[in-house]
Amino acid sequence: MAYSYDTQNIFARILRGEIPNKTVLETPHTLAFHDIYPQAPVHALVIPKGAYVNFDHFAAEASAEEIVDFHRTAAAVCALLGVVEGDGYRAITNAGPHGMQEVPHYHLHIL
Ligand code: 5GP
Repeated sequence: MAYSYDTQNIFARILRGEIPNKTVLETPHTLAFHDIYPQAPVHALVIPKGAYVNFDHFAAEASAEEIVDFHRTAAAVCALLGVVEGDGYRAITNAGPHGMQEVPHYHLHIL
């Protein structure tokens, strides 16, 4: 599968610092920030800093270091935002038109 990445997508612009974000956590490979239109009392987005369009692209082409960092950061975000000790949460990702993906840069929603 050949993946095509749009460098003008909104999360690429956030990563370049062209658009502000409310950061929850940042590591060398991963950025987590609050969703601008929260759908729940807690709604954060976790994104890799690398140029991956969706989950299957990230799984296929990211390095082991990026993949570990992404998941450890996502879990740390859950803990930081207080949902680990509570009644639970959703960690979901959308891919492509059938998955209703709006922003073509891989992201995990924590709700
Ligand atoms: P998708 O539908 O692609 O899975 O989710 C995209 C998410 O990005 C949506 O929940 C939307 O509210 C969020 N979003 C879109 N633009 C921005 C933005 O400029 N800043 C932030 N923080 N979130 C955004």
